[in-house]
Amino acid sequence: MSHIKIQCAGCKKVHQIDAKEIDFEQVDSDERQMGVEITYEGNIEIQCDCGKTIEVSHLFWEYPEGVENHQETNVDGGIVVENTL
Ligand SMILES: [Zn+2]
Repeated sequence: MSHIKIQCAGCKKVHQIDAKEIDFEQVDSDERQMGVEITYEGNIEIQCDCGKTIEVSHLFWEYPEGVENHQETNVDGGIVVENTL
């Protein structure tokens, strides 16, 4: 199961987010040599028990069609400790 684990920057508690909890949407597309490159982005916000809000933004690029060739995870308010997305 794909998931990502984020450690809160405030209290060090680790939160797990499963891939199915993230709604990905197409945010960009680009015509390239082998076809269309599509950028997907999913955002999720975690309200930690300590009161801190952790914002997670996961992007991935599909190119050529059907192939995930690059990904990026940005976290505000915490750090990524495990990422199997
Ligand atoms: Zn916390």
